[in-house]
Amino acid sequence: MKYVSTRDRMRTYTAAEAIVKGISDDGGLIVPSSFPVLDDGKLNALTEMDYPERAASVLAEYLDGFSCEELLDYARKAYSRFDGDDPCPLVKVDDGLYMLELWHGPTFAFKDMALTLLPHLMVASKRKLGDDSRTLILVATSGDTGKAALEGFRDVEGTEIIVFYPADGVSAMQKRQMVTQQGSNVHVAGIKGNFDDAQTAVKRVFTDPEVIAKLKAHGIEMSSANSINWGRLAPQIAYYISAYCDLLNSGEITKGEKVNFVVPTGNFGNILAGYYAYKMGLPVNKLIVASNANNILSDFFSKGEYDINRKFFKTMSPSMDILVSSNLERLIFEATGRDSAKVRRLYDDLKNKGRFELELDAHDFDVFEAGWADEDETKETIHNFFDLDDYVLDPHTAVAVSVYSDYADETDDATPTVIVSTASPYKFACDVYNAVADAREKDTDKAVMKLSMFTAAECPDGILALNSLPVRHTKVIPRDGVKQAVYDFVLGDGEGSADADKE
Ligand SMILES: *Cc1c(COP(=O)(O)O)cnc(C)c1O
Repeated sequence: MKYVSTRDRMRTYTAAEAIVKGISDDGGLIVPSSFPVLDDGKLNALTEMDYPERAASVLAEYLDGFSCEELLDYARKAYSRFDGDDPCPLVKVDDGLYMLELWHGPTFAFKDMALTLLPHLMVASKRKLGDDSRTLILVATSGDTGKAALEGFRDVEGTEIIVFYPADGVSAMQKRQMVTQQGSNVHVAGIKGNFDDAQTAVKRVFTDPEVIAKLKAHGIEMSSANSINWGRLAPQIAYYISAYCDLLNSGEITKGEKVNFVVPTGNFGNILAGYYAYKMGLPVNKLIVASNANNILSDFFSKGEYDINRKFFKTMSPSMDILVSSNLERLIFEATGRDSAKVRRLYDDLKNKGRFELELDAHDFDVFEAGWADEDETKETIHNFFDLDDYVLDPHTAVAVSVYSDYADETDDATPTVIVSTASPYKFACDVYNAVADAREKDTDKAVMKLSMFTAAECPDGILALNSLPVRHTKVIPRDGVKQAVYDFVLGDGEGSADADKE
């Protein structure tokens, strides 16, 4: 299997190159040149397997040059870090309604499904390419990605990671998760600015010739762990297929029966993996895109217009507070019949005018439905779902449930439906507790305890333990200080190179 660029179908990459590069040289995203077919035989075989085996089998279809055995080794290592026997259990909450819980990993959000695996794929890819440089992962985070990347790459040989977060723009829990990060190759810095400032500064450093040369002289190359990397997308395809296998195994559906997936969306990475599973032949009726108040994607699916000139809202589902959904470009590539010239035109428009328009007549859009939930609807959904179904939703998953209720009311669609559940409710303890109990708690620790008493939902040990971990990372830098921070952290220039001595 070769890979091509969304902006130039003639530009090809191997799987290892796709993973190491992250993005195509022409600025496009790297996509598989075709989709492997999931036939009955393969699906039957997958139903017999445990999750790491399913993940390795699906990845093997895409990653030429990687053997099944090595992929299984990586998958076992990655998913052994999750709580329980099954890293992504499918929980029945009502007749025909299921939660695919993707948050039993080390950082309690779905990003762990891919970020525990990516470091293994990246190190192996470099080895396959004969590249013996050390890898420096740079991440700008709005909260969840940073922590998941830190956990994924911590103490992975041949790698070092620096995470930049907006000093005043992440939740108390998210900040605590990052500043207490352990590991010998991890660095964390707050930036005085918002997420976009952090993201822009990091992007600039990636392409700064001086930084590239200076690091190269020390045998270091930069790479990215954000959600446009193929090594993050590919592992996500597996859990859609796995959920279907679980439904077959439990007798909830029969072979060939279609199901819906509802996905809370920000960067369009998670749901795009579901679309790829559908393209492989998974029996999918609808993929339902669920946005929060930043409803740029649901607007796109109803009007065909993508316009970032709009108000930005800070919501209680912060990991979906995004206006530029990077992975949408991959869908547009498929839905336009792989017309890379058209993709280039649309993304030039986006860059120059902040908007583009597209006729939504392509057959590929038919599988999608879209909707959004505002803050009140999200809160109400958390409250009612606990009352009626005795299940505690995090705010991101609540957005999905709210959008699905609207959809089900409007359509009377009775297709079995999987809600893709993306975070532990304890990660957003204040908002969740206040919603279920009609309370106004502002203290995170108290909210965790109260939520646990009120709902009897089990609190992950890792969340309770955060409290007693020492703060190891206190550095806060100015907006233009990213380059210097990279030098300080990695090359030991100047002061502050070894974070650990602040312990
Ligand atoms: C990142 C994230 C999302 C959004 O996922 P995308 O792949 O960006 O669409 C949803 N929920 C949670 C909890 C997340 O961390």
